[in-house]
Amino acid sequence: MAAVPEVRIHTANDRPVRADGSFVLYWMIAQRRAKANFALQRAATLARELGRPLLVLEGLRCGYRWASDRHHAFVLQGMADNAADFTAAGVSYLPYVEPTPGAGKGLLQALGERACAVVTDDYPCFFLPRMVAAAARTLPVRLEAVDGNGLLPLRVGDKVFGRAFDFRRFLQKALPAHLGDFPLGDPLRGYDQGPVELPRALLKQWHGASPAQLAADPKALAALPIDHTVPVAPLRGGAAAAGATLRQFLTTRLPRYGEERSEPDADCASGLSPYLHYGHVGVHQVFAGLAKQEGWTRERIKATQGGQRGWLGMSETAESFVDELLTWRELGFNYTWQRSDYEDFESLPDWAKKTLEKHAADPREHLYTLEQFAASKTHDPVWNAAQTQLRETGVMQNYLRMLWGKKVLEWTPKPADAMAILIELNNRYALDGRDPNSYTGISWVLGRYDRPWAPEREVYGVIRYMSSGNTVKKLRMKQYLARWSGAAGGQPSLFGPG
Ligand SMILES: Cc1cc2nc3c(=O)[nH]c(=O)nc-3n(C[C@H](O)[C@H](O)[C@H](O)COP(=O)(O)OP(=O)(O)OC[C@H]3O[C@@H](n4cnc5c(N)ncnc54)[C@H](O)[C@@H]3O)c2cc1C
Repeated sequence: MAAVPEVRIHTANDRPVRADGSFVLYWMIAQRRAKANFALQRAATLARELGRPLLVLEGLRCGYRWASDRHHAFVLQGMADNAADFTAAGVSYLPYVEPTPGAGKGLLQALGERACAVVTDDYPCFFLPRMVAAAARTLPVRLEAVDGNGLLPLRVGDKVFGRAFDFRRFLQKALPAHLGDFPLGDPLRGYDQGPVELPRALLKQWHGASPAQLAADPKALAALPIDHTVPVAPLRGGAAAAGATLRQFLTTRLPRYGEERSEPDADCASGLSPYLHYGHVGVHQVFAGLAKQEGWTRERIKATQGGQRGWLGMSETAESFVDELLTWRELGFNYTWQRSDYEDFESLPDWAKKTLEKHAADPREHLYTLEQFAASKTHDPVWNAAQTQLRETGVMQNYLRMLWGKKVLEWTPKPADAMAILIELNNRYALDGRDPNSYTGISWVLGRYDRPWAPEREVYGVIRYMSSGNTVKKLRMKQYLARWSGAAGGQPSLFGPG
């Protein structure tokens, strides 16, 4: 089997691989899929080398911040797809849904004590790095964390990039060397090491998810101690839905993407971010699908100096998609990988903090509480529509997401409050929340990856300003507003200066 590139494998402790263990464990925590998955490929390789079966543990905790019906249902739908895929491959799969906070404690250790080695996902955000570090300290066998996050391995981006331009230029130099290293489409092909028998007592304490849980049944969700005020989203989670979304994007939306991505009524963005966030699809699969659609090969790459277009030698519309998928997405991963203070106001660039602090005491024409924002109860119909879309569906149109963030900055007492409110709203409602790009997207609103913009204004200082009035004039969004306005809170009124 093809080897996973070493630069993607981090040995997280100095414990041995125990050849006399009963199985190799893949502890799936971020790349939640059975196909094109470097960590799964690594675990399958070890299992084959050691002549031992493979066990996949996919856990879903309930005590983490923002755990809700919405996030749980999406992950559970993914588990149902994974259960089908692992059963078809003959691989043992334990989807564990924690019934009460802390009930899952001890499961990984109990499995680790029987394992030859444990492989997990290296994910640079939320509570996952702390959880993996804690496991590395207590597991009695080797723990490897495998980075399947981006086309560029995290360890290759060896510094923080302050601007997208600098990162793009770096990518154009560094990425070609990694474009030949894609994960195997089916890392379990030919798997013949059989199933894993786990002790009854262990399965009694930590049994696999029930059929009702895997179906994200309302009663099963209601029984869990999670936030039930954030309802299940209309979007279905899982690798099958992710694949269908990707296919639909490539065949029907991509041709319009470059020109119309920002237009709310055009609705031509990929909608892939929830699936990328939960690992129901991997960036390599998205890129491979795009390359196939474009009839593209690596020989088409041209030398450029950081330009947004013309580097890969794809169509213009495909290159504009790649700029989001690679430059902007992986810039966010680079940031949270390099800096653990990504949630803090203090982590903003100095010029941004300085100008925001200078204007922190400026009078605000409108001020809202978290509850008012959450319920779309502001004076601005455009903002309310965007928030309603987010609250009801778990996604928000990409251009309006920028405007949405800017207005929260404008309508809260202090910039640090704005950051906290945006993190709360984004991560509570958005299916792609709690991602590196949640934090870099929100801090972009406050100046990260941007530059000072004249004229200096109240509240914003020289932070880039956006207005709902201009947005309505500039973009096609009648249908969008008709769909999302008036469902809650703020009545449409004059757009005013905001
Ligand atoms: C205030 C604010 C909050 C945000 N929060 C999140 C978040 O929680 N999770 C998240 O994934 N993105 C976030 N973004 C970035 C961006 O809005 C979303 O990635 C994008 O709208 C997702 O829609 P799509 O999948 O249809 O994107 P497409 O336009 O189809 O792009 C393809 C992929 O590229 C990546 N991408 C696109 N735009 C950006 C961007 N501006 N920055 C980084 N990556 C990008 C995403 O992975 C996306 O799925 C945020 C942006 C802002 C301004």
